[in-house]
Amino acid sequence: MSKLLVIGCGGVASVAIQKCCQNSETFSELVLASRTKSKCDALAQQLEGKTKTKIATAQVDADSVDELVELIRRVRPDAVLNVALPYQDLTIMDACLECGVDYIDTANYEPEDTDDPAWRAVYEKRIKEEGFSAYFDYSWQWAYQKKFEDAGLTALLGTGFDPGVTSVFVSYAKKHYFDRIDTVDILDCNGGDHGYAFATNFNPEINLREVSAPGSYWEDGRWLEIPAMSVKREYDFPEVGKKDMYLLHHEEIEALGKHYPEIRRIRFFMTFGQSYLTHMNCLENVGMLSTTPIDFNGQKIVPIQFLKALLPDPASLGPRTVGKTNIGCVISGEKDGKRKTIFIYNVCDHQACYRELGSQAISYTTGVPAMIGTALVLNGVWKKPGVFTTDEFDPDPYMDMLNQYGLPWVVDESPAVVD
Ligand code: NDP
Repeated sequence: MSKLLVIGCGGVASVAIQKCCQNSETFSELVLASRTKSKCDALAQQLEGKTKTKIATAQVDADSVDELVELIRRVRPDAVLNVALPYQDLTIMDACLECGVDYIDTANYEPEDTDDPAWRAVYEKRIKEEGFSAYFDYSWQWAYQKKFEDAGLTALLGTGFDPGVTSVFVSYAKKHYFDRIDTVDILDCNGGDHGYAFATNFNPEINLREVSAPGSYWEDGRWLEIPAMSVKREYDFPEVGKKDMYLLHHEEIEALGKHYPEIRRIRFFMTFGQSYLTHMNCLENVGMLSTTPIDFNGQKIVPIQFLKALLPDPASLGPRTVGKTNIGCVISGEKDGKRKTIFIYNVCDHQACYRELGSQAISYTTGVPAMIGTALVLNGVWKKPGVFTTDEFDPDPYMDMLNQYGLPWVVDESPAVVD
């Protein structure tokens, strides 16, 4: 029996909230708060009479610590689930510390304004020291470790699918299949087709920033960076088929590299069709992916935010998307002196997600683990003071809940490897 404050009411939040309502024993009360309160009200109304969970709604600007503190003091939740944007991670963590509540999110911090000189100074230093240039990284949130520890509070970071489930797949493999892991290839395949020439499956601004950045991977204790989309492989995904995939920087590599120093190489690949890449390159070449504001007819406009306004809302893709996702980890290492490789993965069907919750599979595969991570913190199973990613806890209860709440997984013990 606990009360959860959910911040944000977009595609991922909608799934996480509906899944919390399927688990009313843990989530007896929810308060849905977002910038646009009408979205929270609409979802609360849709769920009325269909769940034992009591639901209330509120308006909040999560960029303001003062507004968040006022809201948290009024609501008095047991934990806060941040499914707004990565831009709000630090303000929400600050407010949780001030009010003494646990914090959970699905994506690590990145700033909205990448031209901010104070942030840029830290960023440039990090590029030199660490060797990767993505805008997002864990250093900002890991810096809260001592504060959460001293306060006796838990911050669980990145409990979506990737990061989130993929990191749990690695800790599960280490616990049950390997004495030593040597390499991990995280593969994210979306075999879905929404029928648009170009659309993104989650928040366009965050998605396009991520995929247009240089790729990088972890090898022998250091980062190696490559030009965006310059490493391509083909993989035959169970239940989806052959797809081209490209090496990207991704946040779980950073956490796994730190927490599993034995792993010699960690890479992340995502599938893209040619049409997506052609559109993205064109938009980038004309400056539409820029985060720097420009003057247009006396108004300041951020090109990537304007582009977001033109693109389909990812939450609206549900009814039109057909096909499946296959996301998982190809893991190689040694067990009892013998070499072995396994592929742990989940296959998720876009239309099945739509029938169950009115959402496409990308929001579904993120929202379900957001609920699971939150439930484990609230139930005390994954509760310890400090700031943690999902690879730092016992994976078994999380893996059980994936099976229970709609993301069943498979372990293939003789998969194809990625060269
Ligand atoms: P959406 O854009 O659909 O939703 C974001 C929500 O946050 C909207 O309701 C928005 O409000 C709200 N919001 C934005 N700014 C504020 C603010 N200042 N104050 C209050 N509310 C605000 O995004 P998604 O649902 O697609 O993504 C949600 C999160 O999930 C993101 O952090 C994303 O990076 C992460 N993610 C993680 C994945 C994983 O596997 N780990 C995969 C996919 C996404 P409004 O309606 O007013 O715009």
